[in-house]
Amino acid sequence: MKFTDGYWLMREGVSAAYPAEILDASAGPGALTLRAPVVHVRHRGDLLKGPMLTFECTAPAPDVVGVKITHFAGGGDRGPHFPLDTAPPETSGELGDEYASLTSGALTVRFKRGDAAWRMEAVAGGKVLTSTSAKSTAYLTSPEGTFLREQLDLSVGAHVYGLGERFGPLVKNGQTVDVWNADGGTASEQAYKNVPFVLTDDGYGIFVAHPGHVSFEVASENVSRLQFSVQGESLEYYVIYGPTPKDVLRKYTALTGRPPRLPDWSFGLWLSTSFTTSYDEDTVTSFIDGMAERDIPLSVFHFDCFWMKEFQWCDFTWDSRTFPDPAGMLKRLKDRGLKICLWINPYIAQASPLFEEGKARGYLLKRPDGSVWQWDHWQPGLAIVDFTNPGARDWYREKLAALLDMGVDCFKTDFGERIPLDVAWYDGSDPERMHNYYAQLYNEAVFDLLRERRGEGEAIVFARSATAGGQKFPVHWGGDCESTFSAMAENLRGGLSLGMSGFGYWSHDIGGFEGTPDPELFKRWTAFGLLSSHSRLHGSQSYRVPWAFDEEAVDVLRHFTRLKERLMPYLREVAREAHEEGLPMMRAMVLEFPDDPTCAHLERQYMLGADLLVAPVFTASGDVTYYVPEGEWTHVLSGAKVTGPRWVTENHDVMSLPLLARPGAVLP
Ligand code: BGC
Repeated sequence: MKFTDGYWLMREGVSAAYPAEILDASAGPGALTLRAPVVHVRHRGDLLKGPMLTFECTAPAPDVVGVKITHFAGGGDRGPHFPLDTAPPETSGELGDEYASLTSGALTVRFKRGDAAWRMEAVAGGKVLTSTSAKSTAYLTSPEGTFLREQLDLSVGAHVYGLGERFGPLVKNGQTVDVWNADGGTASEQAYKNVPFVLTDDGYGIFVAHPGHVSFEVASENVSRLQFSVQGESLEYYVIYGPTPKDVLRKYTALTGRPPRLPDWSFGLWLSTSFTTSYDEDTVTSFIDGMAERDIPLSVFHFDCFWMKEFQWCDFTWDSRTFPDPAGMLKRLKDRGLKICLWINPYIAQASPLFEEGKARGYLLKRPDGSVWQWDHWQPGLAIVDFTNPGARDWYREKLAALLDMGVDCFKTDFGERIPLDVAWYDGSDPERMHNYYAQLYNEAVFDLLRERRGEGEAIVFARSATAGGQKFPVHWGGDCESTFSAMAENLRGGLSLGMSGFGYWSHDIGGFEGTPDPELFKRWTAFGLLSSHSRLHGSQSYRVPWAFDEEAVDVLRHFTRLKERLMPYLREVAREAHEEGLPMMRAMVLEFPDDPTCAHLERQYMLGADLLVAPVFTASGDVTYYVPEGEWTHVLSGAKVTGPRWVTENHDVMSLPLLARPGAVLP
């Protein structure tokens, strides 16, 4: 959100108050508190002028300092809050002549004392990482309400990444980003997974600890500053010191949670029914037979929405017209070594037999007048399960537990983004803060059930919505994309952006969701899909079995599925790093090569773990241009050598793509 009209003026109706100096400061164990009036105090009369901002600094973990800026403190705190795993270091605020400061590990946040203009600096490794000055921090009054805004200086050449799964440019400089979950596909500026965390290649990251709407202007209002604002009376953020981008991710995920271990079978190939296609047990069996006959190893079979009866999503009951013997069918499928995934969402349509039950028990989200919140999008009379109600959570989980007993292994936890504001949550949560956070409660409820039933390391969901901390409930996939090369590239940008936001695993619809890919696209997307952390064939109106395209598509799928199998010893190690260190399996080049300036903007290639470079082919012709960092790299598929640093243009047939082993790498 922008507040200014150029360098000198404010937008119409907006007025700002800026902290001018530290009036009093107090320091204690792990804390520093400052009071800052918005005028310089020259005489007692100035003590009666205007607002005052309170700055509270804390040290939740080594190398992390929290800054909370408050105007009015009297408002009720209805939550929710991001839960943080804190490990406070032994430290104490210090009041020196020049600065009031708090040091946590190698990071010091200090505020200039005395008469000079307002200035805050975050200092580590002998340099100022970022700072604020006279008109950076602001309390703003506008026709839309009051806001707190922070503007952190960006050094010349610093790049900003993260903010969740965003499908536009990987480098966020120049972008306005609203952290607000939306169901907008992969071709819009909206995102299913918004994370108020940015990672820079300049030694630090910033986490804004507000689960509601956070508006980021990344060098897009003041072109040299990283700006973020929230509506209301306080703003809290954490400065996280690296120094490397990987270090920042390690520390950010230590605070907000690490991805769990995932079962081995989840890394194999998933095949879905697609969405609006017609299918029954015979169709499903013919797909599975077809894969076996063609010698393509299949790991998971996924049933999309129509496993339930239309208009009844969700009732968690198989549609007996198409699946008369679900338990028998599941047994037959599982006897073939397959795992089973079912589509679900957190909504209950009016025609679902569960609607009356949920309404009577108070488990469906209500409007402030006590009526059930409903609308006609997606399913007629759709209502939303209120996961802030422990009874509703248990009720929802009971329905899923019955499916687990029947033989289901995991769930595709779809939706969870369009959470309304004109509601009253059971636990009194603030609707604005619950909008994004709902995704967390929903996915956590399902993930925890799976963990309880299947054990640690065996639980997995296939989730679309998330916010900060959502990495604890994987896997996430990119959502609805078109069947085009552009959409394939869009998806990759989204996945890399999510990886820069603390998420370890990621997937996408191989072949694209909307429309039907032409065979060339399908083959190229297959190669990319099998070189992703999780690999699923899924579409909307058409099937994604390879023989629906052509015989070569079958060969391509077999080839890359087998390749992924051979890479599993390596991928298991990479997954271990995701779990233990919070590093994504699919890494933007800058994460591995922060000192190579060419890598800063690369978003059409990635590192799969530390040792494999993957450059998906985004053309039907097979032409691909990619960048090779320093050293002698080896094409894994051909053994050819390429020496970097340099850009390379190559042509690959459909059985190949640039897949390069890093100099010195030993692939198990
Ligand atoms: C999901 C798809 C799913 C469809 C039906 C979409 O919006 O992203 O993956 O097949 O809804 O649930």
